[in-house]
Amino acid sequence: MAGASSHPGLAFPKGPSRAQEKARAHRLEVAIIKATHDAVWERSLGLCEICGDSEAETAAKAWPFLHQMHEEPSRAATRGKPPSERFNTRICIRACPPCHSACTARMVRPLPLTATGFDGPYDVQLRTPDREWATAYTVDRGGVKP
Ligand SMILES: [Zn+2]
Repeated sequence: MAGASSHPGLAFPKGPSRAQEKARAHRLEVAIIKATHDAVWERSLGLCEICGDSEAETAAKAWPFLHQMHEEPSRAATRGKPPSERFNTRICIRACPPCHSACTARMVRPLPLTATGFDGPYDVQLRTPDREWATAYTVDRGGVKP
C-alpha cells in the first residue's frame, strides 16, 4: 500500500505527546486560576473576605501582607478534578495571610450558607476549645464584615 507505514500504529499522525498534553492542561489551569483570582478580587472590594482588612491594614500587622486566594475545599482535596471545579468564585475566597493561615490550620472556617458558595452569604466560624465550630459572624457581601 503506497504511503502506508510499516507500523500500523504510525499510519496516522501522532497526537500530542503526554508532555504536551500536560503542559496544555497546566496552561489551562493557570488561566482559570488567574480568572478566578481576578473575579474574587473584584468581588472582595479590596478586603480580606474573612476579617475585612485591606492590604494596608494587614501590612500594619503582619508580614507578608499581600492577600491570598483560599480554596474551600483545599487544592489538595480537589486534586485530579477539572480546573473549573477546583477554582471558581463559589469555592474561592480572598484572605489576608493571618486569616489564610488560620483557615489552613482549621482554626477558622468560612462556611457558605447557600449553593452560591462565597458568591452568596457565608458564616465565618471559629474553632472552640472543645473542637467544635462556632459562628463568629455572617458575611452578606463579599469582603465586608457586619
Ligand atoms: Zn483576614
